[in-house]
Amino acid sequence: MFNKNNQFKAFESKVWLSSPTMHGEELKYMTQAYETNWMSTVGENINQVEAMTCEKIGCKYAVGLSCGTASLHLSMKLAGIEAYGMPKVGHGALEGKKVFCSDMTFDATVNPIVYEGGEPVFIETERDTWNMDAKALEKAFEIYPDVRVVVLAHLYGTPGKMDEIMEVVNRHNAILVEDAAESMGATYKGIETGTFGKYNTVSFNGNKIVTGSSGGCFLTNDLEAANKVRKWSTQSRENAAWYQHEELGYNYRMSNVVAGVVRGQLPYLDEHIQQKKAIYYRYKEGLKGLPVQMNPIPEDCEPNYWLSCLIIDKDAMTKQVRSEQDVLYTKEQGKTCPTEILEAIASINAEGRPIWKPMHMQPIYRLNPFINKDGINRAKTNAYIQGEAQDIGMDIFNRGLCLPSDNKMTVEQQDRIIEVIRACFE
Ligand SMILES: *Cc1c(COP(=O)(O)O)cnc(C)c1O
Repeated sequence: MFNKNNQFKAFESKVWLSSPTMHGEELKYMTQAYETNWMSTVGENINQVEAMTCEKIGCKYAVGLSCGTASLHLSMKLAGIEAYGMPKVGHGALEGKKVFCSDMTFDATVNPIVYEGGEPVFIETERDTWNMDAKALEKAFEIYPDVRVVVLAHLYGTPGKMDEIMEVVNRHNAILVEDAAESMGATYKGIETGTFGKYNTVSFNGNKIVTGSSGGCFLTNDLEAANKVRKWSTQSRENAAWYQHEELGYNYRMSNVVAGVVRGQLPYLDEHIQQKKAIYYRYKEGLKGLPVQMNPIPEDCEPNYWLSCLIIDKDAMTKQVRSEQDVLYTKEQGKTCPTEILEAIASINAEGRPIWKPMHMQPIYRLNPFINKDGINRAKTNAYIQGEAQDIGMDIFNRGLCLPSDNKMTVEQQDRIIEVIRACFE
């Protein structure tokens, strides 16, 4: 039997970065799927998840999928077909085409471009939100005027500067694909993330603000696109008595059991956001006086505060050197670095994490273009020297870290974490 206290007990020993928080109804809906035998990719839970997601986000259509990455993949396919036409079987919809994308993000934002044969072009980050810089995006269009698709993520649940971004996207007749996997429930000027793009994604991965253990939704206001995604995600079966196929298919549909978990979670989205917000402001208060900043919260938006992060002031940083897999740092009085703080947090059994390493510095994408607000393009110049903080993304990666942000963390646990962070600066 579900017992809320047991869940909390399991977490007494460790404070996680961001772990699932169940409330009881999840089990009720999963059991309903079992007892009615809708143990499949069809059922009432999926219908409800789609309806509730539309209602919450304020979009017309939501399609439940196996994960957010699947939604991003089908979004790239839709955008590619719309921009460049239907590819031949065996060819991607973006084959040989460049796509502009966020640089500071999880690789699931970017990989779907490659699934469809496209080439990611990374757009530099701006400091105010840690998201895509509209000025760098404008420069990218000057350099590659033929590009028609842009993918943007809202890092750690803080919306990007959507007015500026949309102005550039619309002026260049491009299609925006929005990755709101980390930002479900966050708003920009009162508008939910996941509604700015033509094709949008939320994720119900286990570490997101609400979870189905896995899962995601494709969001759009375009009925035809929603129908396509629903069809493609169920192996593109045509309306015939036998298995008839006119198009390439995928097995990407959400399970009705997973949907039961999501259905039980969605009513708690706002509660989780409030808990995460309280965590953010407790860190902000507790770290006052230290040479650090929290991740920025711009005035015109309300984030979902998924992860609390900090960034150490430049002159309070000890020397820290990261290779592809290892890290070394020096100890110095009054100074510290993300690695030392992460080790200190780990020593009291709490989980922090380095900032997501920018995509332009990932070995897999080392030869891809990377464009900053001055129009400097790594693919065409040697202006970028690796290692030192030559760009904003790498500077945030070098000096920043994600703090334990689990909404089941107690005030006492958080106070202890703040204490060990403060000790790093002694
Ligand atoms: C988690 C995440 C995804 C992928 O979602 P899944 O449901 O895990 O496939 C995509 N983009 C970003 C920015 C994410 O954080």
